[in-house]
Amino acid sequence: MSYTPHDIFQRSSAAVTIDESLCIADKGCTVCVDVCPLDLLAIDMTKGKAYMQFDECWYCMPCERDCPTGAVKVEIPYLLR
Ligand code: SF4
Ligand code: SF4
Repeated sequence: MSYTPHDIFQRSSAAVTIDESLCIADKGCTVCVDVCPLDLLAIDMTKGKAYMQFDECWYCMPCERDCPTGAVKVEIPYLLR
Protein backbone atom coordinates (compact mmCIF):
# COMPACT_ATOMS: atom_id res chain seq x y z
CA MET A 1 0.00 0.00 0.00
CA SER A 2 1.42 3.40 -0.90
CA TYR A 3 0.61 6.74 0.64
CA THR A 4 0.50 10.12 -1.00
CA PRO A 5 1.07 13.21 1.13
CA HIS A 6 -2.63 13.87 0.85
CA ASP A 7 -3.46 10.54 2.48
CA ILE A 8 -0.97 11.06 5.27
CA PHE A 9 -2.28 14.44 6.34
CA GLN A 10 -5.94 13.69 5.91
CA ARG A 11 -7.79 12.96 9.11
CA SER A 12 -11.34 11.84 9.52
CA SER A 13 -11.76 13.89 12.69
CA ALA A 14 -10.08 16.52 14.86
CA ALA A 15 -6.63 15.76 16.30
CA VAL A 16 -8.07 15.53 19.78
CA THR A 17 -11.31 13.76 20.54
CA ILE A 18 -13.17 13.72 23.83
CA ASP A 19 -15.23 10.73 24.87
CA GLU A 20 -18.26 12.56 26.16
CA SER A 21 -19.45 9.54 28.12
CA LEU A 22 -16.23 9.75 30.20
CA CYS A 23 -15.79 13.54 30.41
CA ILE A 24 -16.74 15.00 33.79
CA ALA A 25 -16.60 18.67 32.82
CA ASP A 26 -20.21 18.84 34.02
CA LYS A 27 -18.82 18.04 37.51
CA GLY A 28 -16.42 20.99 37.29
CA CYS A 29 -13.35 19.42 35.67
CA THR A 30 -11.31 21.73 33.44
CA VAL A 31 -7.97 19.88 33.55
CA CYS A 32 -7.50 19.46 29.80
CA VAL A 33 -8.46 23.08 29.14
CA ASP A 34 -5.99 24.24 31.80
CA VAL A 35 -3.02 22.15 30.65
CA CYS A 36 -3.17 22.87 26.92
CA PRO A 37 -0.44 25.43 26.20
CA LEU A 38 -2.27 26.58 23.08
CA ASP A 39 -5.74 26.91 24.61
CA LEU A 40 -7.15 24.58 21.99
CA LEU A 41 -9.62 22.87 24.26
CA ALA A 42 -12.74 24.34 25.79
CA ILE A 43 -15.80 23.31 27.74
CA ASP A 44 -19.09 23.28 25.90
CA MET A 45 -21.29 24.81 28.60
CA THR A 46 -24.54 23.62 27.07
CA LYS A 47 -23.39 19.98 27.08
CA GLY A 48 -21.00 20.14 30.06
CA LYS A 49 -18.31 18.40 28.01
CA ALA A 50 -14.85 19.34 26.76
CA TYR A 51 -14.23 19.72 23.02
CA MET A 52 -11.51 20.86 20.64
CA GLN A 53 -12.27 24.42 19.61
CA PHE A 54 -9.16 24.96 17.44
CA ASP A 55 -7.57 22.10 15.51
CA GLU A 56 -3.92 23.24 15.72
CA CYS A 57 -2.53 20.63 18.03
CA TRP A 58 1.20 20.34 18.90
CA TYR A 59 0.81 16.75 20.19
CA CYS A 60 2.49 17.64 23.46
CA MET A 61 0.04 15.25 25.22
CA PRO A 62 -0.69 16.66 28.71
CA CYS A 63 -4.40 16.83 27.89
CA GLU A 64 -4.54 13.06 27.31
CA ARG A 65 -2.11 12.26 30.14
CA ASP A 66 -3.76 14.44 32.79
CA CYS A 67 -7.45 13.83 32.10
CA PRO A 68 -8.66 12.08 35.28
CA THR A 69 -11.08 9.82 33.42
CA GLY A 70 -9.12 9.01 30.26
CA ALA A 71 -11.66 10.82 28.10
CA VAL A 72 -9.08 12.60 25.95
CA LYS A 73 -7.60 10.83 22.94
CA VAL A 74 -4.90 12.55 20.85
CA GLU A 75 -4.54 11.18 17.32
CA ILE A 76 -0.86 11.57 16.48
CA PRO A 77 -0.37 11.86 12.72
CA TYR A 78 1.35 8.98 11.00
CA LEU A 79 4.51 10.96 10.25
CA LEU A 80 5.12 12.03 13.86
CA ARG A 81 4.86 8.59 15.46
S1 SF4 B 1 -9.74 16.64 31.62
FE1 SF4 B 1 -11.03 14.94 30.89
S2 SF4 B 1 -12.79 14.92 32.28
FE2 SF4 B 1 -11.75 16.90 32.56
S3 SF4 B 1 -12.80 18.31 31.18
FE3 SF4 B 1 -11.08 17.46 30.04
S4 SF4 B 1 -11.92 15.65 28.96
FE4 SF4 B 1 -13.37 16.21 30.54
S1 SF4 C 1 -1.76 17.58 22.77
FE1 SF4 C 1 -1.02 19.53 23.59
S2 SF4 C 1 -1.56 21.08 22.06
FE2 SF4 C 1 -2.74 19.25 21.59
S3 SF4 C 1 -4.71 19.64 22.61
FE3 SF4 C 1 -3.42 18.41 24.01
S4 SF4 C 1 -2.41 19.90 25.33
FE4 SF4 C 1 -3.23 21.01 23.54
